[in-house]
Amino acid sequence: MKKCIRLLEIEKNRCQSCGMPLQFDPQGGGTETDGSHSTHYCSYCYAAGQFKEPELTLDAMQHRVRQLMRNRNNPWYIRAYMAHRVPMLARWRGCKRR
Ligand SMILES: [Zn+2]
Repeated sequence: MKKCIRLLEIEKNRCQSCGMPLQFDPQGGGTETDGSHSTHYCSYCYAAGQFKEPELTLDAMQHRVRQLMRNRNNPWYIRAYMAHRVPMLARWRGCKRR
């Protein structure tokens, strides 16, 4: 049961743009305009209150996530799961797929 709760916590603290758990972010998260840490986005996606790449599309992000996972030698089912999760993150919710 404790383990389940822990997993849920990790799940909750994912970057809402790329899906990376914020605890794995060496910076501890992106920054807001006032310099405080964002609790929603990681430092790779978000800095000083805005997305680093506002033009990035959902497809491009999914591709990037797959690439990142491959570099880390994650098994295929983790890669598939993470890429599948991207459209459900706050940044992409409501985005129409082309
Ligand atoms: Zn991110």
